[in-house]
Amino acid sequence: MRITVLGSAAGGGFPQWNCNCRNCAGLRRGSLRATPRTQSSIFVRGDTGDDGILFNASPDILEQIRARPALQPARGLRDSAIAGVVLIDGQVDHTTGLFMLRERRGALPLWCTDPVAEDLTTGNPVLSVLGHFCGVERHRIEPDGAPFTVPGVPGVTLRAQALSSKAAPYSPHREAPVPGDNIGVLMSDAASGRSAFYAPGLGEITPALFDTLCGADAVLVDGTFWTDDEMLRLGLSGRSARDIGHLPQSGAGGMIEWLDRLPARTRRLLIHINNTNPILDEDSPERAELARHGIEVCADGMDIVP
Ligand SMILES: [Zn+2]
Ligand SMILES: [Zn+2]
Repeated sequence: MRITVLGSAAGGGFPQWNCNCRNCAGLRRGSLRATPRTQSSIFVRGDTGDDGILFNASPDILEQIRARPALQPARGLRDSAIAGVVLIDGQVDHTTGLFMLRERRGALPLWCTDPVAEDLTTGNPVLSVLGHFCGVERHRIEPDGAPFTVPGVPGVTLRAQALSSKAAPYSPHREAPVPGDNIGVLMSDAASGRSAFYAPGLGEITPALFDTLCGADAVLVDGTFWTDDEMLRLGLSGRSARDIGHLPQSGAGGMIEWLDRLPARTRRLLIHINNTNPILDEDSPERAELARHGIEVCADGMDIVP
């Protein structure tokens, strides 16, 4: 099993089009040692075959496909290596790319939970819109840990777990979370038994989630914010990281503390990094602190073999 990071940034990407924070401005000026990043998505393949699973459909999907030739194996006049799409929630930065897949021949195989399917047919009816183009062949994800597979991607087994985070702002139940608004997915390689857990948005590490993290060979987890008040202090938002369903890395009970408790052999990676996060500056003390804890920062194009 091979995981390719297509997009490692949170919503807005890095640099964000309208942002002049220290990171975005520094990257544009060339005064900051940092790498541009597109919005949140990974592509997962088994050991055999060209086809894989797209996790989240980023607004940057066309750029991501152009940048990774493996996603266009060119076996026919119209072709794609995307055998199916798995959505971890219904947020804009994880679903807008679905519009860009509308030229597909035949219905798009799509896996999501019932609450996400509801959001994507009501508050943000992208699935209904796609019905006028390729159509969607929707498969239900139950966030109960039951195994499922994506046809055409042999050797990769998926298991979804409900996470404590937030539904999208246009969700009819934004302020009344239900299980399945956000999921993490454990992906396992049938041949090697190796596994990785992907959770780009997660607000809280419950005992059940910590058990799952401990059992994975690699974890790709929420790297959105360094501090809980990151957006508040910059005057960019009236809400804290935890308010919008993201566990910050630093501080008591933060992501670094949790990752420190995982077995020593676990590979720890942060993904879904907001453009304001100081870890994007490769010379920052925050980035050095991650390195001291053995925590990697995902970049676009990174290949991970758990
Ligand atoms: Zn996101
Ligand atoms: Zn910025």
